[in-house]
Amino acid sequence: MKTIIIGGGLTGLAAAYRMLKDGVSDVAILERDSELGGMAASYHIGDYHIEKYYHHIFASDRELIGLIADLGLGGDLQWLKGTTGYHIDGKIYPMNTPLELLRSPLSIMDLIRLARVVFTIKGAKDSPALDNITAKEWILDNAGNSLYERFFEPLLRSKFGNSHDKVSAAWLFGRIRIRSNRSASGEKLGYLRGGFYRLIAGLTESITGMGGEIVTDCEVSEVAIENGKVGGVVAEGHGYLESDAVISTVSPHALSRVLPGVSDIPYQGTACALFGMAEPLMEELYWLNIKSEVPFGAVVEHTNFLPATDYGEHLVYVTAYLQNKDDPRWNSSAQELVDSYLSGLEKLFPNFRRSDVGWWRLARDIETAPVYLTGYAGNIPTYSTDVSGLYLAGMFSAANYPERSMNGSILAGFECAGEIIAPID
Ligand SMILES: Cc1cc2nc3c(=O)[nH]c(=O)nc-3n(C[C@H](O)[C@H](O)[C@H](O)COP(=O)(O)OP(=O)(O)OC[C@H]3O[C@@H](n4cnc5c(N)ncnc54)[C@H](O)[C@@H]3O)c2cc1C
Repeated sequence: MKTIIIGGGLTGLAAAYRMLKDGVSDVAILERDSELGGMAASYHIGDYHIEKYYHHIFASDRELIGLIADLGLGGDLQWLKGTTGYHIDGKIYPMNTPLELLRSPLSIMDLIRLARVVFTIKGAKDSPALDNITAKEWILDNAGNSLYERFFEPLLRSKFGNSHDKVSAAWLFGRIRIRSNRSASGEKLGYLRGGFYRLIAGLTESITGMGGEIVTDCEVSEVAIENGKVGGVVAEGHGYLESDAVISTVSPHALSRVLPGVSDIPYQGTACALFGMAEPLMEELYWLNIKSEVPFGAVVEHTNFLPATDYGEHLVYVTAYLQNKDDPRWNSSAQELVDSYLSGLEKLFPNFRRSDVGWWRLARDIETAPVYLTGYAGNIPTYSTDVSGLYLAGMFSAANYPERSMNGSILAGFECAGEIIAPID
């Protein structure tokens, strides 16, 4: 039995890995780009690799941590302090320890409300009703306006841009629950020393070592279906490739271009610049949510998470989420966008000098992740479809809800492969 997997991101790689490990021999991954990894792909700068989009993991990422161990990389998975702060009213406020929270612009009443919100959410049972109200409505009802405006709105904006007020309360609950590896000194986040590039490389080596085929620069333009059954795919430069099963890991929207009739799921885009700098930008903070008027929602200083000595320079991501193609951050040239980000940095950080920036890269894609709008849960596609032999798995799968992650994509790949190996009745 031949299985073709469309997409060499983590879902596709994980599905192939699982199938080959379980003794399914004829598996091929077709990847559009010249490199593997999708959203978790990396730049190769000098003698190191760094993710195109900032990445860290949580202690609850069981499948990912297990896979890293299986690939023999467990010794290099490290748990490091990942500090968070807010830029509000022209000032940076670290918000990690109880003392920092007391010094923050949140009033004592808001801090009490915040503690109550976290406590309520951690103790709450899952409820389908949460999928039908927005996080904004839930917070306004349960904690009031000032906590929403000063704490939750910047957080939601940094994750969903202009869709911040349409995201479901289910997302908020999921997000707060996974952030559990916290002590009095702050939160510990995981990172694979040397970069998650090593995870992609380890999977690639293992898949090809077990006889799997990986083809890059190979865009699938059609999924061929006859009499309700998948027959194969058409791929650029390769023509028609026959197969008994096809797993599509691309966004349902992208899939609808090669397979008309697939239900759509709202996705957002990302415009993420990475700056290589001679000097650090912030003193200690890893992640800064921004409430001020600049064209980005967060600044992520990777080298305040990993030591700058690993790279020989300082690495800073500046990032925004895009909701549609009319957004000037999508339409402008790369240079224009980066200039606007640099102007924003000058506005926020008086000590920042453009001359400190040695180089930049821009990762920009209009479909990088689902947006968890209200009602999302009811539209999540199952792995098996009405078409015999056609499976869908990826960032849009239940495994990635309500928080998309590398772990969720790996789990989606594993679970989907499991359904092919041992079909569920
Ligand atoms: C800005 C950002 C930050 C993130 N931060 C984190 C984080 O801190 N921690 C974390 O755990 N996760 C994070 N994630 C999520 C994580 O990166 C993703 O969940 C995961 O990498 C998605 O893998 P995937 O295989 O499901 O999808 P993708 O990575 O999108 O893979 C799909 C693949 O399909 C290919 N493709 C598309 N169309 C075709 C076609 N027609 N033919 C062939 N190939 C095709 C694409 O090129 C791509 O390689 C982040 C994501 C983003 C966007």
